[in-house]
Amino acid sequence: MFSFSAGGVFASQLKALCGIATGILVQLPLPKHISEEKVLCEISLEKDVDGFHPLNIGKLAMKGRQPLFNPCTPRGCIELLVRSGISIKGKNAVVVGRSNIVGLPVSLLLLKEDATVTVVHSRTKEPEKIIREADIIIAAAGQAMMIKGSWIKPGATVIDVGTNAVDDPTRKSGYRLVGDVDFQEACKVAGWITPVPGGVGPMTVAMLLKNTLDGAKRVIEK
Ligand code: NDP
Repeated sequence: MFSFSAGGVFASQLKALCGIATGILVQLPLPKHISEEKVLCEISLEKDVDGFHPLNIGKLAMKGRQPLFNPCTPRGCIELLVRSGISIKGKNAVVVGRSNIVGLPVSLLLLKEDATVTVVHSRTKEPEKIIREADIIIAAAGQAMMIKGSWIKPGATVIDVGTNAVDDPTRKSGYRLVGDVDFQEACKVAGWITPVPGGVGPMTVAMLLKNTLDGAKRVIEK
């Protein structure tokens, strides 16, 4: 596995490296002068280990179709639920956030797993009322500790994707990382909850490795 930055290689080298690789991930967001859409469309479907190619996302959204790759963070969220023995079928799932990277694909994956899915975003009125109905909450808004303990139904499962830096003068770095959920309050109410850091983050890395391995196996089998 190798990585390089936009300024670190010439276009010809980049093309050669992409030719040998079995998986390609573009670290987003890109600088404003580079079109994210164009770059993601250039990645071949078979190497799209992040699952962000429009055709992979399109298949994820369609009934009866399967993308070659599912996006890593959303796949990690589902894996956490499945491996913890939390059933998804028929459950009320609320996803907070609708980004292309997390909120939208995780809501599509939950639908594929037969959950009843509601997506909350920045224009949603009274999000706490909707979140309080959830059996499963996936928080991916990028808003530090926005979801309070009182917003959570007792026993609900909370997957906190949010990773936000907040000032903390007691730390050498001057900051600490917190999720979108107020962990101290929420852990007293929730049945299951992921910590930040150390919850979804490592799962994202594991799913990236899994996607890369799956992609390499497909190439070898061909
Ligand atoms: P984006 O900023 O792209 O999207 C945030 C989403 O949250 C938007 O859909 C936005 O709504 C919604 N939102 C913002 N504020 C509110 C609010 N007050 N109430 C309800 N919804 C709100 O972020 P990402 O999806 O890229 O990332 C989300 C978080 O997850 C970040 O903290 C990021 O660092 C973290 N992250 C963690 C990963 C991990 O591996 N642990 C991987 C990727 C992300 P609207 O569409 O209306 O603007």
